[in-house]
Formats: sequence, structure tokens, C-alpha cells
Amino acid sequence: MSPTYDQMLEPKQKFKPVRRYGKSDYFHFDIIRSLRYKNYLKFESDMLADIIIAEYKVRQTLQQKETLERKIRALEKLPKNDEDEKRFQLCHQELEIVKRNQGLNEQKMFADESMIPPGPLKRDYDAMRQDPTWYLRKELIEDCVGRGGCCARGCDCCKNRAFAYYKRGVGHCTAGCGFCASERGFEYTAGEKQRTVEQLDKMLRSHNPSYVVKMAEAYFAKPPEQKVQKVPEQVQREKAQKKQVWWKQLL
Ligand SMILES: [Zn+2]
Ligand SMILES: [Zn+2]
Ligand SMILES: [Zn+2]
Repeated sequence: MSPTYDQMLEPKQKFKPVRRYGKSDYFHFDIIRSLRYKNYLKFESDMLADIIIAEYKVRQTLQQKETLERKIRALEKLPKNDEDEKRFQLCHQELEIVKRNQGLNEQKMFADESMIPPGPLKRDYDAMRQDPTWYLRKELIEDCVGRGGCCARGCDCCKNRAFAYYKRGVGHCTAGCGFCASERGFEYTAGEKQRTVEQLDKMLRSHNPSYVVKMAEAYFAKPPEQKVQKVPEQVQREKAQKKQVWWKQLL
């Protein structure tokens, strides 16, 4: 009998891979890639992967847009020489492209979200997003730390996004985060940003269900109330007094 990933996962997981996940089906037509939710609902993991990727891309273009807008505001304040004027024009051109991509990414996310069958999974997904800090969950903070995002540095950028005026695209750093870029000392090219999306895609659609299960749990499974990591305002006040790495307090 082939080993089941089921036995390797924590019993409290709400998403579990079906038996023979990643193996070919009986007729050798397809690779089996279904997840069970709460033991009784079965979904193709591709449906969940599509949404997670679409959401990442919305976040990425939103973070790029914010970075460019910040740059434009800074350049506006400077007395302009020819070089600044050129940079200013380039930022505006780039912003136009990013805004178009942002629009398209939002359309794609809407299309992918519309594929969630109305029922328990959709209900949990919507309920979770009522809380603007939903993404400050252990799994996603760890993911951001692992990618070298702002959560790895304790600069509060990810936490602060929860209080932004927009609702969609709120979350952890992507390859488009301007704060991460300043920390690195360079910005990723369009091609490099695309590669991070491709890598995410590969991980989520792998024959090994480990990553898709972890992310499905974080994006779709409503945690028990006490598990939602609300960031108390007090943390922000305390931070001003003593420098602390806030995410470590949440883990
Ligand atoms: Zn930061
Ligand atoms: Zn960042
Ligand atoms: Zn983060």
C-alpha cells in the first residue's frame, strides 16, 4: 500500500489530501490532486491554488503601485533637474502599466473566487475575510519570514497593511514590496517577479501536497476565534518604547 500523506499531517488540519495524491488515476489520464475539507467535502487542489496565485498577483501589483506612488510623491517635492524629470516620467509610465495589470489581476481573482462552490468552504472563506487582520496567521507569517519579507525584519509593514483603505490585496510581502526592495538594495525586474509567481505555482501544484495543504489551511479554513491573531493596538504603543519583533510575539 502506498503511504498516505494523511497520516503525516496534524490531526487538527481541516484540509487533507486524498489517498494517492500526486499519483496517476486508474486510467493513467490524470494526476490525482484532490483535497478533503473537514473530511466530507472534496475539492480539486487546483481550484485553491488558482485563488492563492491570483491573490498573490493582486498583492504584488498593489505593492508595486504603492512603491511607485511613494517615489512620485518624493520626486514631486524635489527641485527638478533633467535627470529627475526623466525619472519622474519613467515612474509615471511604469505606474500606468502597473495599474492596468492591477485591474487585470483583480478581474482574474474575482473569476477564480467565483469558482468556490457556494457552501461551507465559501462561507468560511468569506467569514475569515471579515477580519482585516486575517492574514496575520502563524502559517502566513512564517511564509513571509521564509521568503525574506518584512515579517523577517519586524518593521511592521505587513501588519500596517491591515489598516489600509483597500480590502483586496492586503497581506504579506511579495516580490513587489518596496520596503523589502530598500532593504535588499535593489528592485526585482519584471522577469524576476514573474519567476516568483511561477515558483509559487510550481509549489502549489506539486505532486507533493505539503505546501498546498498548508496554504489551503491558511487561506480557507476558518480558525477558531482565539486563533485569529489580532494585533492589539497596545503592541504598537509598546513598540515605540522598546524595539521588539512583533511577529515573534504572535508565534
Ligand atoms: Zn517592512
Ligand atoms: Zn516587505
Ligand atoms: Zn509579512
